[in-house]
Amino acid sequence: MTQQPWYNLSAEKALAALSSTPDGLAVEEIARRRETYGFNRLPPPARRSALRRFAEQFNNLLIYVLLAAAAVTASLTEWVDTGVIIGVVVINALIGFIQEGKAEHALEAIAGLLSPQAVVKRGGRLITIPAEELVPGDIVLLAPGDRIPADLRLLAVRDLSVDESLLTGESLPVDKHVTAVAEDTVLAERSCMVWSGTLVTYGQGTGIVAATGSATEIGRISRLLADVQTLTTPLLRRMNDFARWLTGAILGLAALTFVGGYFWRDYGAVDMFMAAVGLAVAAIPEGLPAIMTITLAIGVQRMASRNAIIRQLPAVETLGSVTVICSDKTGTLTHNEMSVQGIVAKEIELRVTGSGYDPHGELLCGEQVCETDRYPVVEEIARAGLLCNDADLHQAEDGWRHAGDPTEVALITLAHKAGLEPDFERENWPRTDVIPFAAEYRYMATLHHDHSGHGFIYLKGAPEVVLPRCAFQREAGEDESIDRDFWQASLDHLAAQGQRVLALAFKVASDTQRELDFDDVEGGLTLLGLTGLADPPRAEAIEAVARCHQAGVRVKMITGDHAATARAIGMQMGIGDGENVLTEESLCRMDDDALQHAVEDTDVFARVSPEQKLRLVQALQGNGHVVAMTGDGVNDAPALKRADVGTAMGLKGTDAAKQAAEMVLADDNFASIAAAVEEGRTIYDNIKKSILFILPTNAAEAMVIVAAILMGRLLPITAVQILWVNMITAVTLALSLAFEPPEHGVMRRPPRNPGEPLLSRFLIWRIVFVAAILVAGVFGLFLWERGQGASIEYARTIAVNTLVMFEAFYLLNTRYIREPVLSWHGLFDNPYVWIAIVTVTLFQLLYTYFPPMQLLFSTQPITLEAWGRIVLVSASVFVLVELEKFMLPGHSR
Ligand code: ATP
Repeated sequence: MTQQPWYNLSAEKALAALSSTPDGLAVEEIARRRETYGFNRLPPPARRSALRRFAEQFNNLLIYVLLAAAAVTASLTEWVDTGVIIGVVVINALIGFIQEGKAEHALEAIAGLLSPQAVVKRGGRLITIPAEELVPGDIVLLAPGDRIPADLRLLAVRDLSVDESLLTGESLPVDKHVTAVAEDTVLAERSCMVWSGTLVTYGQGTGIVAATGSATEIGRISRLLADVQTLTTPLLRRMNDFARWLTGAILGLAALTFVGGYFWRDYGAVDMFMAAVGLAVAAIPEGLPAIMTITLAIGVQRMASRNAIIRQLPAVETLGSVTVICSDKTGTLTHNEMSVQGIVAKEIELRVTGSGYDPHGELLCGEQVCETDRYPVVEEIARAGLLCNDADLHQAEDGWRHAGDPTEVALITLAHKAGLEPDFERENWPRTDVIPFAAEYRYMATLHHDHSGHGFIYLKGAPEVVLPRCAFQREAGEDESIDRDFWQASLDHLAAQGQRVLALAFKVASDTQRELDFDDVEGGLTLLGLTGLADPPRAEAIEAVARCHQAGVRVKMITGDHAATARAIGMQMGIGDGENVLTEESLCRMDDDALQHAVEDTDVFARVSPEQKLRLVQALQGNGHVVAMTGDGVNDAPALKRADVGTAMGLKGTDAAKQAAEMVLADDNFASIAAAVEEGRTIYDNIKKSILFILPTNAAEAMVIVAAILMGRLLPITAVQILWVNMITAVTLALSLAFEPPEHGVMRRPPRNPGEPLLSRFLIWRIVFVAAILVAGVFGLFLWERGQGASIEYARTIAVNTLVMFEAFYLLNTRYIREPVLSWHGLFDNPYVWIAIVTVTLFQLLYTYFPPMQLLFSTQPITLEAWGRIVLVSASVFVLVELEKFMLPGHSR
């Protein structure tokens, strides 16, 4: 069925050939077709096979060195050492493999949260379904910003144009029609078809699904829509480059040590080789890249659980440096649950009671229930709001259900309260045509005819757009010439209370008119009245705005609403000064310099079009800001792309906006942006913490070996023992830092300067400071034991245990980079830290007392007293680092 070239058939024939109807398919038929055609999805991108991923774990310099070491020990028939080295290499590869798999899995799960939806007509009803459930023959509705979910033969269009650059490379939108084209027409000119994966840029359309999944054009050329995410960010890439560079440098140094030790210190070649390997193993931070990746993946997962879904990983880093958040108002700062609170007609003003969409409430004039019979204009306003409307409100078993634009649902609720019966009204005054609402022109108009064929038009929209189109006003049942001052004053009054104001107007149309054009509503209308709709601010958004301000992040509101409404809502939310509001008009008049100046002092922008949004982002960036910007419409895409963290709405956002964004808010809520900023800062902190934890340990191990060689002594820790320490601490202690919750002060410090180097002077100081303590402790205790006559095996067992215990204590310090950890929170609010410490201690007990381990690592059981000394010495790092934090608080910032 899907093999035909549908574009050379007329719309009716295509419908018939696909055995469908304008009302869509029946439920049983859908199930049958699903069996035949399967789900509407493309095969997943080819992933690296598990074997390949495992093999890749061995592809690094350190592993080559270790394998060479294993070969050397084997040639010397030192089988135990060979076995340990190979064992550690394999276990490390396994751990890396598992961690990487988990991180990839986490990201895939998050990408799955963004699966596209489609609006279809099935069995006569409009429903929204996951796009992958479409089958050939389904009737799909298209709106601006939609990503087309399958290949469709168009059945009806209104000014539909589509961006097909994905398929054809042509960046200009293509106009679409329903007329069939010849069979030999090339893909780009088959104007009655739209292709899966392309984007609706303008207009509306209805089409029938002709091909799904791999049978679509995009499936056929098997290019994938979803980007395959690489698990990295610029910062991680820089760190990985650094680690690679460090590895090379250390290997060079190890080679030098080998040569130097062999010629000048008279060590045997084999001893010296093993010492050089030990140095390489000690100094190379082999666990760091994996820990940073897992920290990133855990952070991104945590953001998703707080409703911020990251589409582009580098955004995670940028979030920590955001200095300005530009937010939409409706639905993001407010609930987007509109309710009509007031009505103004020429001869009467009404207050509307009741809350939410529940249509129980009254129309009051003063304190009295209004007798609407005496004021027919009230009923007319309610009717206009009901009929010039695409939303739905109906009673289900469990209460009132609504669908569509909340502004319009509120108007249906009003109609109920005014005593109108929606189904009856719709039947009595059927709709012949519509100009749907669009943010660019801010109105909606419908053409109706009554049963005797008389035509008329309703127009509803923003008062500034509707009023100039009205020459008359409805007054005492008559159309009088309009009193603009009166309406302006009423509008100002409603808007000053933070209400969204809609004007409703009427015009007689000719009986024969079947289509509604923009020209038809250009003028000559009669204004019926105004409605004021309240949309309460979200309490959590008010709180989040305050938190952002504390965190040095300025919040700006950019809204399509009226200036006075925006100002009033801004005041309630703590945004702006209650005075300064810039509107589209004034923005258009400003040149770029003036705008750059103005954006610094103004926080509320009203009646702003998407083009001006783009200019605002540019102006803010010009001032050195790092900008997060929200958006939902198809025209918001350029501003979202331009912003440092483009943020699309998950619920009311279009696919075009989501595709352009770095982050998507699952709940459209401003509070989730603040949460994302907090998590972004935390991820950065945690990456810093893992560096701060791992590097001093490596440095200390290396220094111990270098010092021993320089002093011509036996190594306090052998190469295989270092392998052991690094392996077990990486999967326990270092990993626990990836789970660190946000620090308490994380939203009380200013945003991070994006130019700041990760290895700041402070970080380098801390690394050197801690490494020095560790070297002194480990070497000191080793020498002391030797001085007491302990065997080399015994003293080495002490040295290894001291090193691990040092790390356990130092892990506690590292939980907070800047703040002291001596508090209940500081010590205990990350359970993973304690699990890690207990686990690593158990491993050390095995290492020390379990005979097979004694054989593998040449360890010896040590006394309780020795443990006492180890704990005492290793606890010193905790005390000293806390003292350092106390003495150098300014330094540490
Ligand atoms: P924000 O930008 O704060 O999120 P918004 O996107 O909801 O606000 P728009 O949807 O662009 O703002 O609405 C702008 C104006 O258009 C509103 O102030 C209102 O006057 C008018 N308007 C909104 N919805 C409708 C509708 N369904 N029909 C007619 N006019 C509408």
